[in-house]
This record gives sequence, structure tokens and C-alpha cells, in this order.
Amino acid sequence: MKITAVKTFLMHVGAPHVGRGQPVAGYSGNLTGTRNWLFIKVYTDVGVVGIGECSGWPRVIQTAVQDLQQLLIGEDPTHIERLWQKMQLAIMGHGMTGTVGAGAMTGIDMALWDIKGKVLGVPVWNLLGGKVRERIRIYAHASTPDVALDLKSRGITAVKCSGLRDPVGTVERLREAVGDDMDIMIDLHGPPWLTPADAASVARELEPFNLLFIEDPIPPENLDGYRRIRDTANVPLAAGERMVTLFGSRELIERDLVDVIQPDTGRAGGITQMKKIAAMAEAHHIMVAPHSGSLGPVAEYAALHLLAAIPNALFLERIEDDWEGRAQTVIPHPQSERGYLKVPDTPGLGVDIDEDFVARFPSMGNVSVPVSEASGAYVEGTYGEHVYVQTRLPRARYLSGK
Ligand SMILES: [Mg+2]
Repeated sequence: MKITAVKTFLMHVGAPHVGRGQPVAGYSGNLTGTRNWLFIKVYTDVGVVGIGECSGWPRVIQTAVQDLQQLLIGEDPTHIERLWQKMQLAIMGHGMTGTVGAGAMTGIDMALWDIKGKVLGVPVWNLLGGKVRERIRIYAHASTPDVALDLKSRGITAVKCSGLRDPVGTVERLREAVGDDMDIMIDLHGPPWLTPADAASVARELEPFNLLFIEDPIPPENLDGYRRIRDTANVPLAAGERMVTLFGSRELIERDLVDVIQPDTGRAGGITQMKKIAAMAEAHHIMVAPHSGSLGPVAEYAALHLLAAIPNALFLERIEDDWEGRAQTVIPHPQSERGYLKVPDTPGLGVDIDEDFVARFPSMGNVSVPVSEASGAYVEGTYGEHVYVQTRLPRARYLSGK
């Protein structure tokens, strides 16, 4: 069996909905925003086709995948590790492996696992060692009591809020509303303006609320800052969504800086790297909770297979009220049942995209819209991403929640 072609499918995706049918504030239209999904297909001379998904910077990764294609044509797709190493060596001259290189290799790697499963007639989880569990717990997003209570009524057992504004007040309101039988997490999004000292203060204030974790309290580049927060506050930490490959997660894990590692299924380097990251985490009693809030449904399938097969799976991130086109993008579309997703039993990943549907949504752009001067410079942004590009937020305002 030989690889004959690699094809990419890029689409512009609508904004997620938080709560039933309620559009996110600031989104004026169905497709406003920059979220893109990039799917790829790897074709073989025996008619078996593998599917994968890349995240990171999809429009750029599309070109990277096309560049890597020449390395794959004529190769046996079942030698996954060999092909992963071949790709990595080929792009080494471009510098350290970042989200573009790893993102491209991720989609290709995912498709190779899909092909291997289809050829052997077994689900990918079976190739990874077999099932540890039959279903995967999910968590959803909620930053207000109303949304959290709605999710709870649908069987969701864990919610994550955003801590870009008033983190302590947000968590306090959520805990009061949902009680003690629901896990709550908060994502501080590691913005450049949040220093280790400030993040440590926030973490200490959050101690009484029994959080499952604080995610990205500071930028992931500042590993010594993670140590400082860890030594100051008794709250579990999570990070890793911006890191790629085994080497990207290595220090977070080896230095015991996190309790939960969150590799992004679409850019961490594929199922091959995710399995290795999970094994390294297992040796440190660290749980795995793949990042996937911005990802499409093919990567979700890959995460389900991985989480089915590793002992230290915590749960999977899922925007329960995503853009309505999500369900039409893939066949079949997994439906959660009372807070869980069933592990697929079909050979390979068990999913395909609807190519005609994907083609209806051409990409229109793929960078977060920076704040405009008219919007009040660096305070009020266009939508959720604005704080990422700020160099400094007024400290008192953030810490006081006003
Ligand atoms: Mg995050």
C-alpha cells in the first residue's frame, strides 16, 4: 500500500454559542470571527482514505501540508512513526517545531492512524492498546450561573469559566449556583499582562472554591512563574494547549508544574505525540485533558480514541452549544449523553467530513482581530480575544473585578 495524494479542506467556522441558541456577545453574524477548521485526507493506491484535522494556524498549515505532501507520496502509510520522523527532520531547518509544523504533522499523523485502523479493521483505540473506558466524560463552558445550571440540567458534571474579567467573582457566583457536586475550572488564558505575582494572588483568592484547576494562569513561556504560583497557592494548575510535541510539554511535566496537561489534539503532533505526552504525564501522576475548544469534530474523534486508551484521561473539553454547522460538517456527528461521549467502535477514527458542506464556507481570515483605536485602545476590544494582545491591563481593575 502506498500514499498517492494528500488533499486539504479549509473552512470558515461560525462562532460558538454559549447557552441554548444565545450568540456570544460581540458576534454580529453567523460566521463573524476567525475560527477556521482545516481537515486533510490522505489517499492510498488501495482506495483506503485517511482523515485528519490540523489546528494552530489553519490557513498557513494548509500550505505546510501541501509542502509535506512530496515526502509522503509513494510511502507506506502504516509506518507512522517513521513518517512522523521523516517530516520532522524535513522541517528542522525552519527552526524549532512550532504550531505550523506540528499542526501539519498532526493532521497527517491522524490520517495515517485512520488508514491503519481501516486497513486492519479495528478502531484506533485498539491500536493504542485497547479500551480503558467505554465513554469519555466531557466538560463545557459556562461563565454565568444560568448557563452552568442549564448545562447541569443536561447532565454535564464540569464547567470551565473564563477568567479574563473578575475571576474570583465569576467562580464565586458559579459555585454558589451549582453547589458542590459539579466541578468548576477557570481559564485565565495566560495573557502577557498577568504576572506571576498577580496570578498567585488570584490563585490564593480562589482557594476556598475547590476548583478542579486553574488553566494557564500566566503565559506558558514563563515556567519559573508556574513554580512561583504553585509554591504560593494550593490550587491545581493546568496548561499545555499552546505547546507542541513531546518536547513542548516536557518541562511542564518533568518539573511537576501542572496537575493536568492539556495538549491540543489538532496541533500537538498527532496521536503519535499525544500518546507519548500521556505516558510521560502518567509517570508524574498528571492527568490528561486535551484542549479542543476551538477544534473541529475530526480532532474530537481523535481525542476520544486517545482518551479511551490511556489510564490518566481526565475529560475532554467540548463546547456543547457550538456553531450549528458543526454537526453537519462530519458524518456521523457524536452526541453527548448526560455529560459523556461514547467511544467510537468503527474501524479507524470512524468519521468522515461532508466535503460539499465544508466547501460552502470558504476561509475569510484567520487571525484574531486586534483592538481598534475607536474601541478605546487597549481596554475595550472587539470580542473575547482582545485581552491577549494587551501588554498591560490596569491591575487594580482586574484584581477587583470592576
Ligand atoms: Mg485555554
